[in-house]
Formats: sequence, structure tokens, C-alpha cells
Amino acid sequence: MVQASLSSAITLPEDTQQLQQWLNQLADRIIAGEAISKSVALALTQIEGQENILLLCEAADRIRQSCCGNQVDLCSIINVKSGNCSENCRFCSQSVHHPGQESPIYGLKSPDEIVEQAKSAKAAGAKRFCLVSQGRGLKYNSPKSKEFEQILETVKRIITEAQIKPCCALGEVTQEQAQALAEAGVTRYNHNLEASENFYPQIVTTHSWRDRVETVKNLKSAGIQACTGGIIGMGETWEDRIDLALSLRELEVESVPINLLNPREGTPLGHLPKLDAFEALKAIAIFRFILPAQILRYAGGREAVMGKLQNLGLKAGINAMLIGHYLTTLGQPPEQDHLMLESLGLQGGEAPIPGEYPSQAQNPTISC
Ligand code: SF4
Repeated sequence: MVQASLSSAITLPEDTQQLQQWLNQLADRIIAGEAISKSVALALTQIEGQENILLLCEAADRIRQSCCGNQVDLCSIINVKSGNCSENCRFCSQSVHHPGQESPIYGLKSPDEIVEQAKSAKAAGAKRFCLVSQGRGLKYNSPKSKEFEQILETVKRIITEAQIKPCCALGEVTQEQAQALAEAGVTRYNHNLEASENFYPQIVTTHSWRDRVETVKNLKSAGIQACTGGIIGMGETWEDRIDLALSLRELEVESVPINLLNPREGTPLGHLPKLDAFEALKAIAIFRFILPAQILRYAGGREAVMGKLQNLGLKAGINAMLIGHYLTTLGQPPEQDHLMLESLGLQGGEAPIPGEYPSQAQNPTISC
């Protein structure tokens, strides 16, 4: 039985069996359509020890099964323009302020090259192919820049020639640019919040967290799904992680990439230790409790942080993953990913967005 103390902080049951029971009851309420409060989410962060974290994962996996099913959303990315970025994101090796070692610098890739890679991504089993560019965003491109037109043309060619769904991650966009992307056939756009509003200034100072939120709103008002998540392991607190997940819930984003920081040499966060795999699992599971129907995507750092335990993430709430290589680091071969999914009884494909999966309750209200 969970008790509330005078400070209204929640005390978790100490007994393993009682904890399991409490987690299952909480999962049942979430599956029935209730939304978790910040104080309950914070209580989940008190769960310690591998055995208890696995109980948390088990309950999160039940939420994933009931609210999303067994299809795991597979996508691939291409870095269409790399390096020399004006922004100072402390985790990123593409910043001109702290160029990381081994981070390539090149201008916008040709449509032919991008379309060819889109075809390879489809052949490897990806259902979506995302064009990612360095930079603060299209919003700040010179009006004479032809790059946006080139990207729109490339997106149209990907649809007709590679027959895979194109996504984009081109930084901040105006409402008009979002509309133009939607008209070209972009249905999903990646723009991460990266961290909580409170922690963000410790990570980036050349633009604000609010700037990022504005772009997410512009995308959604153009009818584009928001693929918006963040990075775990940058020195943030558990409360920061919870606040990030709650902001994503409030913004009603459809897909949430969870990056696990893989510290890059030469960046200001290069000295940080890699996250412990069980801490990452705990964060993934808590995100699933807060975001029961969203697509939760394993993104950068999966192999580097989780290593041999990466299959456990798919039993802790994850129902999507990037396959192939990342922006500045290599991923494992897609065949290995397909084998991992098969061994877990999961199928690679397209996962439902919130509201699409049949058994999912609508309009959750905060009550647990
Ligand atoms: S994360 Fe994006 S905006 Fe930030 S430095 Fe890297 S490329 Fe630039």
C-alpha cells in the first residue's frame, strides 16, 4: 500500500512483491486511460537495484503491449549536411564552437545521393528515412538560399523513386516552411527538446528551449507529426528527465526519440561517463509510464550505452528504433536488429501513433 507523507512525497513499498503489485496496479490504471502525475513519476525514480528496475520494466512493457501492440517502428537517418554548425550544443560534435574529432564537414548532399541511400534504407527494412541537417534551422537561412527548394525536391523524389516515407530534421522552421514540407509529403519531423526547460541553458546557450517548442507547434499546426524527444545522460537530474517527459506529453508529440549520451571526444560533455545500462532502462520505463501511447524510439547511443542489454529496452517500453548508422557514429548491422526483434517476438514495421491502436483509451486524465 502506497502512503503519502506530510510533504506529499510518495513512499514506495519496500517489499519486492508489494512493489510489483503496486506497479501492476499503476500500469492497469494507465492502460485504462489515466495519466500519471509528476509526484508519482518522481516516486518511480526512487526504484533502485536491478531486480526492482526489471519489475518496473515489466510493468512498462505491459503498458507498451496494451497501448501500442507489437510493431516496432523502424527508421533510418542520413546526415545531409554536416559540421561547422553555428550552435553550441554541448553534446554535439558538429558545433563550430567545439568540433569533435572524426566529425565530418560537408555541404548539402545531392538529391541523387540521398535518394540512393533512401533505397538502401528501405531494402534494410526501414519504413521511414529522415534527412537530418546541421544548423539552427531553415528559419535562419538566407532568403536567397536554394537549399530548402532542393530539399523539397529531394523529398518528392524519395516518395516516388524509393517508396519510403521521408522525414526531416532541419532545425527550426516557420509555419510557412512547415506547410511547404507537408505539401511536399513530409508527415513526420524530428525536432528534439533535448532536455527539460530548466536544464536546457546548461546544454545550449545560442538558442532557447522555447525556440524549440515553437517549432514543434509550427509543425503540428501544419499537420506534421512531431518526433520530439531528448538525450539522457548529460548530467541532468531525475526531475529534469521527468519534466522533459511531461513537456512532451503536454505538447502531444507522436514519437519520442530517446538518445543515450555517447560522450564524444572534443565536446564539452566528452568527459562524462557513459550512463549505466540499468539507469537507462529505468529512464525508458518511466518515459513509457508517462507516455503510454507515444512511439518511444531507441535513438543514438543504443549500442554504445546498452551493449548486450539493448534487447531489454525493447521489453521496457521501447517500440521503435533507428537502424543503420547515426549522425556521427556507427550503428550495428540491420540484420542483427531484425534478429533481435524476432527473438523478442516483435515485428519491425510501423508503430501506431497515439489514438491509432484499437484498445487504447482516449483522452487520459491526470489521476494517478
Ligand atoms: S545539435 Fe544540431 S544545432 Fe546543435 S550543434 Fe549539433 S548540429 Fe548544431
